[in-house]
Amino acid sequence: MSALPRITDLTHAQFRDLAEAHGVRPFRGDQAYEWVMKKGVRQPDDMSNLPKPFRDVLWEKLDCKDPVTKWSNDPQTTTDKLYMGLPDGDGVEAVLICDGRRTTVCLSSQVGCPVGCTFCASGLLGLRRNLSAGEILDQFIEARKRARSLDRRISNVVMMGMGEPLLNYDAVVHALEVLNDPEAGGIGARHITVSTVGLGKGVKRLAQEGKQYTLAFSLHAPDDETRSELIPFPGVLSIAELMDSAHEYLRDTGREVTFEYVLIEAVNASAKHAKHLADLLKGVRCTVNLIPYNENPGLPFRRPTPGSIDRFEAILRSRRIKVAVRKRKGHEILAACGQLRLRERRATSAE
Ligand code: SAH
Ligand code: SF4
Repeated sequence: MSALPRITDLTHAQFRDLAEAHGVRPFRGDQAYEWVMKKGVRQPDDMSNLPKPFRDVLWEKLDCKDPVTKWSNDPQTTTDKLYMGLPDGDGVEAVLICDGRRTTVCLSSQVGCPVGCTFCASGLLGLRRNLSAGEILDQFIEARKRARSLDRRISNVVMMGMGEPLLNYDAVVHALEVLNDPEAGGIGARHITVSTVGLGKGVKRLAQEGKQYTLAFSLHAPDDETRSELIPFPGVLSIAELMDSAHEYLRDTGREVTFEYVLIEAVNASAKHAKHLADLLKGVRCTVNLIPYNENPGLPFRRPTPGSIDRFEAILRSRRIKVAVRKRKGHEILAACGQLRLRERRATSAE
């Protein structure tokens, strides 16, 4: 495993500093940053407007290798899944979702996840390690290339792959800044969504970043008892605290939060749950995203019938809650999160 930082790990300022530290004018650092983050070029020799001595510095100081990638396409859902190998032999996944005019990439923030939600395949793995900012951006860069080959431009980024983004705060926020930079990822902050189970410190810090990122809280239940069975992790905000945080986030950023609610048969998807949820969210400025559960082999949870999902949605609507049901396309993608990597690992170990 290379001990050097990845070329994608550097901030804009660090590229300039690197140039200066080697007697090269700082604007060469701007150019290198643009090659990597805007054009997706990691090999210094391909950075045609850089002087040779600075290209040599990049080679020497940074890991400039392109990541090993494997794409698979699901024609049924028009989603493309990326498996990206990591130097330590592990891997992560990202998903590209082409849906009408919208092209969304779903990125991972960690290898595995320490939170261990009982219904989630990523949680089964535990945490193997955090991704660096560069490894998060590598997923985006590869997905952008894929999108371009399909004649599309990435319009949205969601941190909804493997991992809990707020438990890898610094790397995630560094990556988000680069994604948001018009000279790099070029994705508007409102089109970048951070999905979290709700961790107090991280939510507060995110609100203070001065950006209008979309914040999505994984709620999954209208009562703390059911919720803590699904998300058995210390330090997760209680439902009352989540409501306060939603309010504060709106006050600090001007952005309404989204509540994600994975619908699981016989757990949280009854009419009673829907009514309880509507009562809870009455007067809260927010949208609810209903995500029909994607069944995982080996986990006992089931997706409700289409009729139950419709009924749940109708109850919320009749009580004037803004609600969206994730379409087949969308939720199949989430099903991929965690599972693709498991498949890859199994395939590798069988070899
Ligand atoms: N750790 C963060 C972000 C990654 S998970 C979080 O939990 O919010 C992104 C979303 O996918 C979460 O709302 C999560 O509950 C949901 N999810 C996980 N496994 C799922 C499954 N099998 N079916 C449907 N949604 C799932
Ligand atoms: Fe982690 Fe999110 Fe999966 Fe929970 S749902 S285990 S927080 S990735």
